[in-house]
Amino acid sequence: MATSRNGWPAGDRTELDIRTFVVPGTDVHLALRADVAPLLLEMALWWHRTVEPLHADWCEGYSYRCVHGGDALSNHASGTAVDLNAPLHPTGRAGTLGRFRVAVTRKAASLGLRSGALHRRPDEMHVEVIVPAQRAAELVAALGTPPPPATPGPVLRRGARGGAVPEAQRLLAAWCPYLGLVVDGDFGPATEAAVRELQRRTGLATDGVLGPRTLRVLGISDLARAWAGGADVA
Ligand SMILES: [Zn+2]
Repeated sequence: MATSRNGWPAGDRTELDIRTFVVPGTDVHLALRADVAPLLLEMALWWHRTVEPLHADWCEGYSYRCVHGGDALSNHASGTAVDLNAPLHPTGRAGTLGRFRVAVTRKAASLGLRSGALHRRPDEMHVEVIVPAQRAAELVAALGTPPPPATPGPVLRRGARGGAVPEAQRLLAAWCPYLGLVVDGDFGPATEAAVRELQRRTGLATDGVLGPRTLRVLGISDLARAWAGGADVA
């Protein structure tokens, strides 16, 4: 199996035990490799309390992609890295952590992680696992808290009918009127294309799935949990 830069197996979501977690006390969802999730969640929670509040749309965990400007698989592709408040700490810019820089690197090190602030090309939003599996397991055990429960977010994807689909289509049609999306309550290829277009325009991952973040952009996140009809679980 391919590995990401830190030596952890990388691959498709179905090949790895990737689950979605909520950073406790926030509405930040992170998809992470389950066995190292407690370390990355502890880092995220500490960041939220110490550095600055985390913004739900600015944080990312698992993502199958290469490192910026290279062809090596990013540690995000193994679910062993997080980006926190990305727009506030753009890749390539040093100094965005201000007086917290040392605290961030130390906190990360204490959890078997490394801050991207230490990369040759600064990446201060980024924190990654740098220890092997056995050490990671010891560090997780040392946290003394059980891994937080995975909380799959509600999603609407291609094939869904009824339920919240018409409402989502109405909003998508308003966002992208030039696509001529028809509100028929059937999440087909045209709806999926509209979701991708919205995601592209708003800087989200373009997966064509209406998950928590995309729903929030549409302004209907409050309804999401009530959407049993047509809703699937990611
Ligand atoms: Zn990153």
